[in-house]
Amino acid sequence: MFARSLPAFRPSLRRGFTTRSVQGLVGAIGNTPLIKLEKLSEETGCTILGKAEFQNPGGSVKDRAALGLIMDAEERGVLKPGGTVIEGTAGNTGIGLAHVCRARGYKCVIYMPNTQSQEKIDLLRMLGAEVYPVPAVAYENPENYNHQAKRHAEKTPNSVWTDQFDNTANAEAHYKTTGPEILEQVGGSGNIDGFICSTGTGGTLSGVSRYLKEHAKGVQTWLADPPGSVLDSYIRSGGKLKERAGSSITEGIGQGRVTNNLAPMIAKMDGSLTIPDEKSIEMLYRLLDEEGLYMGASSALNVVAAYELAKILGKGKTVVTILCDGAYRYQTRLFSRKWIQSKNLESAIPDHLQKYVVL
Ligand code: PMP
Repeated sequence: MFARSLPAFRPSLRRGFTTRSVQGLVGAIGNTPLIKLEKLSEETGCTILGKAEFQNPGGSVKDRAALGLIMDAEERGVLKPGGTVIEGTAGNTGIGLAHVCRARGYKCVIYMPNTQSQEKIDLLRMLGAEVYPVPAVAYENPENYNHQAKRHAEKTPNSVWTDQFDNTANAEAHYKTTGPEILEQVGGSGNIDGFICSTGTGGTLSGVSRYLKEHAKGVQTWLADPPGSVLDSYIRSGGKLKERAGSSITEGIGQGRVTNNLAPMIAKMDGSLTIPDEKSIEMLYRLLDEEGLYMGASSALNVVAAYELAKILGKGKTVVTILCDGAYRYQTRLFSRKWIQSKNLESAIPDHLQKYVVL
């Protein structure tokens, strides 16, 4: 009744098939809208679409992986009622896990690099997780946050280290949900020409790419990297792993190795791009100004990558990417003049967008 009484010129308020009742918090994970980015589509002559993963209850694409990892542990019988879920995470997987743990009655212990935003640490604690921010050292170092999480689980009875990087239940969650949703939302095979996104664990890129390559005729799948990640050069060099060097403002993405989640798909990528921070920060402000989208930096990087891929594929094509999370959990950095200056990014923000740097 409500939908029908709305005027026809406001189609976005007619919620249609997305209106649903769900069972508990976990039922609200997934089924996110696919948003057409109007200005960028117009500029490229393509259709550029962003999967609104920031609409998940934990606010990011990682809710899907978190639920997949917990269901996997339950199915394997390693997580029993009252048990403890332990993970190493840049934050978003932890936030997803903490939500699902509260909903299912598990304890949650999170190790994360102490370079991550205070907002994420605070939120995790508010969600009841025990949080250990630890020095950000390379994966090869035994003190890396992942190894510390694993050791904590080994010492804790009735606990599981969910191992988001190498447990393929992560990519499987995207194969089973994100991929099929995207294909249905574009209208089926033949209606999607490109998919591109950045990777942390690689779960999203790998799971979605595998599904699309199996079900969408002619689709190309591409990887997008931030500076300081090795995967773009790994793909371009046909499988040579270089030393990790450099850094990026984009939290939660960039990788120094081929994880188990990414491994089955990396050789099947049709191409890859590295997106400099200057372009990501400019896009972050453009998305806000032009589309009203308040996005985190990995989403902005993904959109730059989708824009570049659209130009590579040519006019009339449809390219999909992931809007991983919102800016809320990074805003004291991304909208702070002092922070932007400290990253030498002030000149990357065009004059007419400088008004958004309000902190
Ligand atoms: N964007 C953000 C903000 C993230 O936190 C993550 C995961 N760490 C990703 C993107 C990448 O997702 P995935 O782990 O599936 O590669």
